Amino acid sequence: MKVEDVLLQGALDLHAHGHPEFTVRRRPRVSNVEWARLAAAAGMRGFVMKSHVWPTVQVAATLAGLSPELEVFGSITLNPPVGGLSPTAVEFAGQMGAKVVWMPTWSARHVPPKSSITLERMRPLMSTLDPDRAAGQDAISILADDGSLRPVVGEILAVCRAYDLTVASGHLPPAASIVLARAAHEAGVRFVLTHACSGSVDASIEQQQEIAGLGGFIEHVFISCMPMHQRGDPRKIAAAIEAVGPEHCVLASDAGESWNPPAPEVLRMFIASMLALGLSEDAVYLMTHENPARALGLPERPGSAT
Ligand SMILES: [Zn+2]
Repeated sequence: MKVEDVLLQGALDLHAHGHPEFTVRRRPRVSNVEWARLAAAAGMRGFVMKSHVWPTVQVAATLAGLSPELEVFGSITLNPPVGGLSPTAVEFAGQMGAKVVWMPTWSARHVPPKSSITLERMRPLMSTLDPDRAAGQDAISILADDGSLRPVVGEILAVCRAYDLTVASGHLPPAASIVLARAAHEAGVRFVLTHACSGSVDASIEQQQEIAGLGGFIEHVFISCMPMHQRGDPRKIAAAIEAVGPEHCVLASDAGESWNPPAPEVLRMFIASMLALGLSEDAVYLMTHENPARALGLPERPGSAT
């Protein structure tokens, strides 16, 4: 067995998308059930299902029931369909077994407004959503005009603390993520900077280091490096990991598109690429096993470290 396949065993994918997402017309490479089967067959520990639109708690609960070995976790993303920054939505998600709360993604406010691949995909689908407004005057900020955290975000952190939920930054601008990471740290809530090197976030090394210094994990995903995305570079990710330290980083797939392989294979490609770029097996193990478990507040499983 190749080393990347060994490292995939027991791995926990912190971030991938199921079906449907946005629309039933967005075809996945595999069904949700097949995704779970492939993850179990690869010996993975499990994965977190993300959706930009709806909470994934119900499908995650269904998939988790398919295999006693596989852990599948649901999540909620605080975009307008769930009420945006809604402590009640977060509390229901907690009651229904969610593990991760993503801050706004396509609805996150950037100044100046940033183009969003996700919103552009919604443009031809949605008659009631104006993508320009969603990225402009309707966009959601976690910060007040004076740069402080809005009180509602403090309420959300309190719910996360009470329900043992992890907060991930979604597509917030990095400067806002630093404010949130500090507040999460003070509130005793686990924090993940979502796909730090992606086009939608693009955090500097200094910003990643600052969040790591506040106890946050720095997530990297591989789909940005895939041909249809072409916004990421595995070398840039490897360099960011070296600069920040693998003890603070997490590798995830962010898979779910028809033009990409299924999520377990995307994670295997990520593992193999990082090894090929000189990261050690221990570092990759840390970022695919121990750190994702810590980021979710899970006990570590006795692993198959190579
Ligand atoms: Zn994603």
